Amino acid sequence: MTALWLRDPLAILADGAARGIVVDGGRIVELVPDGGQPSTPNVAVFDASRHVLLPGLINTHHHFYQTLTRASPSALDRELFPWLTALYTIWARLTPAALDAAVTVAMAELLLSGCTTTTDHHYVFPAGLDDAIDLEIAAAQRLGIRVVLTRGSMNLSQRDGGLPPDSVVQDEDTILADSERLIGRYHDAAPGAMAQIALAPCSPFSVTTSLMQATAALAERSDVRLHTHLAETADEEAFCLQRFGRRPLDYLEDCGWLTRRTWLAHGIHFDAGERLRLARAGTCVTHCPCSNQILASGTCLVCELEQEGVRVGLGVDGSASNNSSNLMQEVRAAFLLQRNRYGVEKVRPADALRWATEGSAACIGRPELGRIAVGQQADLALFTLDELRFSGALDPLAALVVCGAHRADRVMVGGRWVVEDGAIPGLDTAALIARHNAAAKALHAE
Ligand SMILES: [Zn+2]
Repeated sequence: MTALWLRDPLAILADGAARGIVVDGGRIVELVPDGGQPSTPNVAVFDASRHVLLPGLINTHHHFYQTLTRASPSALDRELFPWLTALYTIWARLTPAALDAAVTVAMAELLLSGCTTTTDHHYVFPAGLDDAIDLEIAAAQRLGIRVVLTRGSMNLSQRDGGLPPDSVVQDEDTILADSERLIGRYHDAAPGAMAQIALAPCSPFSVTTSLMQATAALAERSDVRLHTHLAETADEEAFCLQRFGRRPLDYLEDCGWLTRRTWLAHGIHFDAGERLRLARAGTCVTHCPCSNQILASGTCLVCELEQEGVRVGLGVDGSASNNSSNLMQEVRAAFLLQRNRYGVEKVRPADALRWATEGSAACIGRPELGRIAVGQQADLALFTLDELRFSGALDPLAALVVCGAHRADRVMVGGRWVVEDGAIPGLDTAALIARHNAAAKALHAE
């Protein structure tokens, strides 16, 4: 592979790279300053003069399978607990073919929005779906997106005072054995890894204390990350107080989870003391603004968290709550929600872009991602400004956020183009939509 100079971008989210960057061997090897030329010999040239260059966006919370229950009538207009109860029985019917359609839709949608690395939190394992994570890995390889797939779990069903029905939970031994299998088979600890595994019990109200503790111990032994939902709703807080006599973060700490290995989805209902404990522990938080607004869960206090030293990333969350897997639109949603809370001085477009890049990279413990700098992975999102929505815009970087960019023209992962001219080469989108629509209808029909 010869070195490639992405030359003369319209704008770039990096200092000292006005004439673009050179990528080689899957990494960024040179920033070309104003008036400069690459010192790397024999570079091929990509004319980026129509493009705004961003580090590839990183999605740190999602449930791909939920693309099958978008705008599901049974769940619309409900808050988290009744929303979950309405959907669990539908999710219990998930099949491998339906999941394959769902994950392909989610990853394709993410890629086309400028996302280069995504996590997924898959925690529904009805009979016959034992290979869910294996299937996700295969789909990611086909599409060329970088993934951190979390092996989710639920073992506290209605029988034991939990929320999910008995048919979608597994026992602790099965969960831990499969977690070990997946780590052994797919987890690549090297910088620049295309696939990693993390461990992710669904939430305090759907797993036992024993499983929480055993999962933390396994993550420590295997040196993988930990992820779960926490402090999403007031209902969850009440559940933890009633069942454990502890607030959610206290309970998390009791289970051995308050460490720098952990990143938490939502993190809305933390008090000031809890935010400091998160900061001291090095635990990160994923902000999911669309999901939080649709479910009316509350607003994550992103500025307080950052001020106190907690790293904050972005996530689109599952498609049944957000209903969309567009990470660039999530950047705009985060910008709007947080600016409305904190004011124009404290929240700027660049902050929202930082959450989706550097902040998200911190959540998943991947310092080689999320920034345009020499030595970083060549993960890039290139946007054009030739749509009506951008016409007349003067500051190209701010325009992406305030005018509402939603579709990347080109996306590069590890030096390889995975989106060209606003499309994924080799993917028949119409056929995928037809297959996915049919699967979604079948799931609701039974
Ligand atoms: Zn979620």
